[in-house]
Amino acid sequence: MVVGAGIGGLAAAADLARRGARVTVLERAAAAGGKMRQLAPPGSAGIDAGPTVFTMRWIFEGLFADAGRSLGDALELVPASVLARHAWRAGGRLDLHADVARSAEAIGDFAGAADARGYREFVARAADIHRTLLAPFIAAERPSPAELVRRVGFARLDALWRTAPWRTMWGALGDHFRDPRLHQLFGRYATYCGCSPFLAPATLMLVAHVEQEGVWLVRGGMVRVARAIQALAEAQGAAFRFGAHVARIEAQGGRATGVTLADGERIAADAVLFNGDAGALAQGLLGGAARGAAAAVPRAARSLSAVTWCVRGEAAGFPLHHHNVFFAEDYAGEFEAVFRRRTIAAAPTVYLCAQDRGVGEVAPGTPERMLLLVNAPPDGDLRDMAPDLPDLAGRALALLRDCGLGLRLDGAVVTTPAGFDALLPGTGGALYGRASHGATGTFARPGAASRLAGLYCAGGSVHPGPGIPMAAMSGRLAAARILEDLSGRARRVVALPVPTA
Ligand SMILES: Cc1cc2nc3c(=O)[nH]c(=O)nc-3n(C[C@H](O)[C@H](O)[C@H](O)COP(=O)(O)OP(=O)(O)OC[C@H]3O[C@@H](n4cnc5c(N)ncnc54)[C@H](O)[C@@H]3O)c2cc1C
Repeated sequence: MVVGAGIGGLAAAADLARRGARVTVLERAAAAGGKMRQLAPPGSAGIDAGPTVFTMRWIFEGLFADAGRSLGDALELVPASVLARHAWRAGGRLDLHADVARSAEAIGDFAGAADARGYREFVARAADIHRTLLAPFIAAERPSPAELVRRVGFARLDALWRTAPWRTMWGALGDHFRDPRLHQLFGRYATYCGCSPFLAPATLMLVAHVEQEGVWLVRGGMVRVARAIQALAEAQGAAFRFGAHVARIEAQGGRATGVTLADGERIAADAVLFNGDAGALAQGLLGGAARGAAAAVPRAARSLSAVTWCVRGEAAGFPLHHHNVFFAEDYAGEFEAVFRRRTIAAAPTVYLCAQDRGVGEVAPGTPERMLLLVNAPPDGDLRDMAPDLPDLAGRALALLRDCGLGLRLDGAVVTTPAGFDALLPGTGGALYGRASHGATGTFARPGAASRLAGLYCAGGSVHPGPGIPMAAMSGRLAAARILEDLSGRARRVVALPVPTA
């Protein structure tokens, strides 16, 4: 049984059903996708309100290929030649390209030859970290630090050393870039895991490599990814029930035995996979029996939340790409505000996804679909922490205006940390589980097997971490763990095949 049809639950359901398990997915929402959802302001088609950057395509190719299907038949993916367009209030505009040479040239024009050289070194370093950690850490069951050393191998300790978990990402960026605007641009990759670049380990530079390997735009929007994997799971025999809120995980004799829905219905199961935020278990939101199944996530360890606006509007004066980032001046202050002062910075960075661009034409002067996002503290469960939305919108629009973009947010559908908390119980609105801050933060995420026998976890709050591909991997790892445990064979580490370089 799978509780939750986020990407982790969907991937697990597809694998479990393919391998002969009888699978029911219980989802409290009306549709699959979890954070991958659309919102529709009045008069607009649906707008992606969650993830927009699709990477690590090979994970999804593997999921479909293992079931004898083709990802290309299920989804239309358009490669993005420009990864993102960046603009600064202080001045300057820079595109990062899929092609490293083009990016290096653009960085040379933007910041000088030394930073162009630094960029090439940075790209090589991010690739090196990724190469070291992909098979033994990312695509395998969660190791302890000592187990990771064993998996990487003593002969390759130098490579593990170079992942530099004891350094901050911000500090390590200084090895490569002089221009502070490039620190902001590349430091922002920490936020893909819900972290501050000032607290995240240098290891997270590998996220830059993941993007460099390819970003795709999904025709029809990211919700198509959820629908495609739901269809894949159904074709393997998985059943889906929507509007099914699991109120309690049942256990007997120290083992999970099934669930009870909010309406009192009891459903027995040999194994239960929980795809909600693992922190919800420790809060007792799934009943007393599962309370000790995962460690509690202290408020201070929660990852970033956000305020988002889904709007259909006219963008004037700035040539938007699909992915756009507008930077204010004080990046350190932004994360200090969110993680220490628990407030939104006076001038937050604004991410803007112009969803119709790159997958279609947008004629000048016509309205288009956009998602805007600013980082926010994950305190949506505290009543007095609600942001002053008109004031925040004014500040965000002022930054865009200073960067040359005229936009209005009339009719926007806004989601605050409190809104995300309601959607994702037990999170406070944290969108990425526990923040991977410090040298060992990433090891604090739970693995697939919880502390309660028969209860498993998958999703962005679980190893290997957040993001659509990572959460899909966690679902695949959990499915493999469940099948191993049910088979009664001697325990061995489960791992997913990874592409060879
Ligand atoms: C605004 C935003 C932008 C993002 N941008 C990106 C991006 O560009 N690229 C990227 O890769 N990632 C991005 N992410 C992160 C990515 O969306 C998540 O890491 C990923 O979707 C998490 O999937 P999951 O498997 O944890 O499930 P979730 O999406 O968290 O879904 C969990 C599901 O479980 C259900 N559930 C929970 N409790 C119960 C219960 N008791 N009973 C029944 N059902 C239950 C919920 O309703 C939900 O449907 C973004 C996230 C957000 C919110």
